[in-house]
Amino acid sequence: MVPLLITMDLEIAKDHNTEEQKTILEKISFDLNKLHLPLSIFLTSDSLDLFKMHIHKLNSPDNVFGIHGIDHGFNENYKNLDEEIIRSNIDYAFYNICNSLFRSPESFRGPFMSTSSDTQKILTKKGIKSDFSVCSQRMDFMNSKGGDIRWLFSPRLPYHPSVKSPYRTGESPLWVVPLSCIGFPFISSVLYIFGLRFMKYFFRILMKESMITKKPIVYLFHSYEFTGDVYLNKSELNYPVSSFFHKFYISDVKKRYELNICLLKYMLSFDSVFPMNSSQYINYLERSSI
Ligand SMILES: [Zn+2]
Repeated sequence: MVPLLITMDLEIAKDHNTEEQKTILEKISFDLNKLHLPLSIFLTSDSLDLFKMHIHKLNSPDNVFGIHGIDHGFNENYKNLDEEIIRSNIDYAFYNICNSLFRSPESFRGPFMSTSSDTQKILTKKGIKSDFSVCSQRMDFMNSKGGDIRWLFSPRLPYHPSVKSPYRTGESPLWVVPLSCIGFPFISSVLYIFGLRFMKYFFRILMKESMITKKPIVYLFHSYEFTGDVYLNKSELNYPVSSFFHKFYISDVKKRYELNICLLKYMLSFDSVFPMNSSQYINYLERSSI
């Protein structure tokens, strides 16, 4: 069996249409529900405040919510933040999810895929069970603010991290569940550059590996990718300006959405593939590692 985890990062993109960022959540909720596809949603606290009514549509028993920081600001990089700030951010984000959605988050993914030993220590104390920030064997680690050369050598399979390094195995009870990567990350932006055929092929390689090693397949997209651009000055942006590769993305946002749905349907067309949310996967992992 091949565990499949579809993850969505939900942050406010100031350079995209705000109204569309709200309404797309309902569309995603409706379409994925139709596919019986559970979603693991990593959300920022400010997106929860601004999109609350629309996020409620995603608050179904099939979907789960994880922490994606406070506002994904330039400096919200968990690799560099002090322990005290990390603690207050995680506390704030944790209770914001509890109070707004009446359920507690069980997973974390840092903005820009950032994490640290201090972050993982605080997550563990908070009862968070998994960290989805590491991209093992992702070659373009320099494209992500949270990227780290140690991604190249971090374990491919889910692991308990060391208390000294989030990229090595150790004794921490937390699980690190790496994003699927083979040089390239298995994410929607690669789909927009190389197309559906490439991503289907990428998926089949990941599936072959998973049959042998039981490694889960973890895919990532952002909800704002399906919404129109708004022109902003650099100073108005809340995250780094698009990387060099953005120039090669398909610009038609409807087409982007369709491509994602096609890819998801393709992944689900294999009998061996079992879609799960992050909590279901951690339960499965713990049951099978006893
Ligand atoms: Zn993000």
